[in-house]
Amino acid sequence: MNYISTRSENSEKKSAAFVIKQGIAPDGGLYVPENIPVLTGEDIAALAKMNYIERAAAVLGLFLTDYTKEELTEAASKAYGRHKFPSPPVRLSQVNNDYVLELWHGPTSAFKDMALQIMPHLLALALEKTGEKRDALILVATSGDTGKAALEGYADAERVSIQVFYPSDGVSNIQKKQMATQSGKNVCVTAIKGNFDDAQSGVKAIFGNKEVYDALNEKGLFLSSANSINWGRLAPQIVYYVSAYCELLRRKKLKPGEKLNVTVPTGNFGNILACYIAKKMGVPIGKMVCASNRNNILTDFFRTGVYDKRRTFYTTISPSMDILISSNLERLLFMVAGAKRCAGYMKSLSEKGVFEVEKDVLDKLNEDFCGYYCDEKSTKETIARYFNAYNYLSDTHTAVGLFCAGEYKKTAGDDSAMLIASTASPYKFSPAVLSSLGQAVPEEEFQAVKRLHEVSGVKIPKRLEKLESKKARFSKIIEKEEMKSEVLAFADTIKK
Ligand SMILES: *Cc1c(COP(=O)(O)O)cnc(C)c1O
Repeated sequence: MNYISTRSENSEKKSAAFVIKQGIAPDGGLYVPENIPVLTGEDIAALAKMNYIERAAAVLGLFLTDYTKEELTEAASKAYGRHKFPSPPVRLSQVNNDYVLELWHGPTSAFKDMALQIMPHLLALALEKTGEKRDALILVATSGDTGKAALEGYADAERVSIQVFYPSDGVSNIQKKQMATQSGKNVCVTAIKGNFDDAQSGVKAIFGNKEVYDALNEKGLFLSSANSINWGRLAPQIVYYVSAYCELLRRKKLKPGEKLNVTVPTGNFGNILACYIAKKMGVPIGKMVCASNRNNILTDFFRTGVYDKRRTFYTTISPSMDILISSNLERLLFMVAGAKRCAGYMKSLSEKGVFEVEKDVLDKLNEDFCGYYCDEKSTKETIARYFNAYNYLSDTHTAVGLFCAGEYKKTAGDDSAMLIASTASPYKFSPAVLSSLGQAVPEEEFQAVKRLHEVSGVKIPKRLEKLESKKARFSKIIEKEEMKSEVLAFADTIKK
């Protein structure tokens, strides 16, 4: 299987290992598989008999054809084994008449673990396969959850180190503590004075800095990133959609070939794109409901064909979905409209802040997708309603999905089975969840966690519970101008 860029016709074809090492294509586009492998009904029946690790190795094997079955099985076992996740790693529960796919039982209690636990192993193998002599240094700017999930995934990985910068006043206390207590001899965590944009532009500048490149190169290092435009983060997400369908077959909740609609709380469009690829592979997925919060740029896009980022940005109680540029949408646009039109849309977006797809493209998109959104008030009401009516406690992001799934069923009159992707533990957002339940919110975040437990009776994830008494390893706060020297200093400790 080869990979091509979303922005050039006849772009050079690359192997999976190459694109996982490389991240972004030289023309600024994202890498996509040249064609989508197909699963027959018999294939799906065979997958239904496997456990999650076997399914992961089998599905990834169709895309990462330059990796052996043994390599993928080992990577999946390391990523999803009992020391990282419960068994099975993904929990599928029935709530009212719908199915909720809980993707957050990993080490950091958020769905990003599903990809970030396996990606470091895929990257280490990619270095070997591409004959890369240098080791990778992953550089991350984070406003919270991604940083911790990346640290946890890359800690003690082979031939890869990770350095995370976060804004000292821009993340919650729990998030700060999660990062500051990170173990692993190949990790470095530094707070910077400033906001998330300062951290992000600082990291971007370091990526483009020749002096840094040369200094690292000399030491046998190169910079790489862990964000969701990398194919190595996207591919593992396809697995849980295939797996969820298999699981519903196994439980006889679906008949072979029966349609399953899916709702995904969406930010950067990575998670829902993985679902689309599962559908293209032949998994009988019907409509995909793209669920947004008050930042409803994608709702407007799927309804009108116009993607317009010249609008107000809102900070919401579902912060991981607060986004105006959903990078992975580019992959969908390529798959539906082709490289030429896709490159045009992206050019218009960066030059004018807006693009519009043609009617035939919008019609095609609407065969598979529809967009709904949920404002702050409805998010809170949904949390309370699900808890009171079904004794189901959801986090704020999942609540957006639950609400939008309901709206879709009401307005589209489609009562096929519905799967909702659940993306974080309610305890990751304890203050907002408590307040949605009409409870007073303690000032101190760990107290809010305890209070939510008293109110709900739901088990606190073990790692979150132990966090309060854990000792911090990293406490450095620097000026943003010092980020570059911080990277060079960390590089010295890696290659002593
Ligand atoms: C990252 C994230 C999302 C958005 O996922 P995308 O793949 O970026 O669309 C939703 N919910 C939570 C909790 C997240 O961390």
